[in-house]
Amino acid sequence: MSLIFLPPPLQQINSEIARNAGVDLYVLRLDLMHPWVNGNKWFKLKYNLLEAKEKDFTTLLTFGGAYSNHIYATAAAGSLFGFRTIGVIRGEERLPLNRTLSFAVQQGMQLVYLNREMYRERNTPELEEYLQQRFGEVFIIPEGGSNLNGVRGCTEIIADAMPTAGYAYAFDHICVACGTATTLAGIALSLHQGQRAIAFPVLKNGAFLAQEIESLLTNYLASGLATPYSSPASWELVCDYHFGGYAKVNNDLLFFSQQFTEEHGVPLDYVYTAKMFYGVMDLLKQGFFSKGNSLLLVHTGGLQGNVGMEERLQRFSKN
Ligand SMILES: *Cc1c(COP(=O)(O)O)cnc(C)c1O
Repeated sequence: MSLIFLPPPLQQINSEIARNAGVDLYVLRLDLMHPWVNGNKWFKLKYNLLEAKEKDFTTLLTFGGAYSNHIYATAAAGSLFGFRTIGVIRGEERLPLNRTLSFAVQQGMQLVYLNREMYRERNTPELEEYLQQRFGEVFIIPEGGSNLNGVRGCTEIIADAMPTAGYAYAFDHICVACGTATTLAGIALSLHQGQRAIAFPVLKNGAFLAQEIESLLTNYLASGLATPYSSPASWELVCDYHFGGYAKVNNDLLFFSQQFTEEHGVPLDYVYTAKMFYGVMDLLKQGFFSKGNSLLLVHTGGLQGNVGMEERLQRFSKN
């Protein structure tokens, strides 16, 4: 399975802000592993696909919004690995399809729409039964690939993705953008003691995620998927860089993102990675990190979503 993917490059960022803080800054470019199936979404899908194959399912069914990175990745991964795919999309159908959904359809995904009320029930046994009846035997992957298979895949992001074995442990802080915190949980489980994972929630009031993380970690350790010696490294949530909430942006963030791309050649997505990178650079200016620290910023992908965001912003500026 892994032959299809390039090892993600590790890129050093030469920034004056980091130099002034005495901190080394590196980016792990998960966005470059594959043109369509990339970022943390591939890691969250991997063991779901393997389980589906093992259990002889031929169809994957999953959930997402109309701009979802997960829908995009699942459609492409399904087509690469020989699964039929069904995407259950939140809300009403809008035509013409946006870029995310038209790509999914090109990859062979069948789209189904659920109104917001029904969509809210997506994790209930009732809705699952309804979907199984309507579509036959389907392997259901939760929204975002956020289950214990997803956590398991994310335990492979840091160490296995590194160019040289052992390299991963040269970093004392690993920074990642955070939605459901599945990725953070996997990363925390894979670090050595003494390393620290820092998550930047992209939604408002992200502090509630602390409990989610505790229960993800507990459930994973109890699941039998964990290696016997795994224990999570320390982790922390930095909740101040949500920019008003999920998929909300302001000029400050847009400017930062364009500037960072120009200066360092790293494109950022507005929903996730731009907020985390902004947060890290801001914390560096505030002296949050110590001299001699070595930071690894995980680029979790998501660039496909920028097309939709830019179209939305253009509409706003015209009105
Ligand atoms: C989904 C996503 C995340 C969030 O991952 P979680 O495991 O839900 O915390 C971060 N970055 C990008 C680009 C994503 O698409």
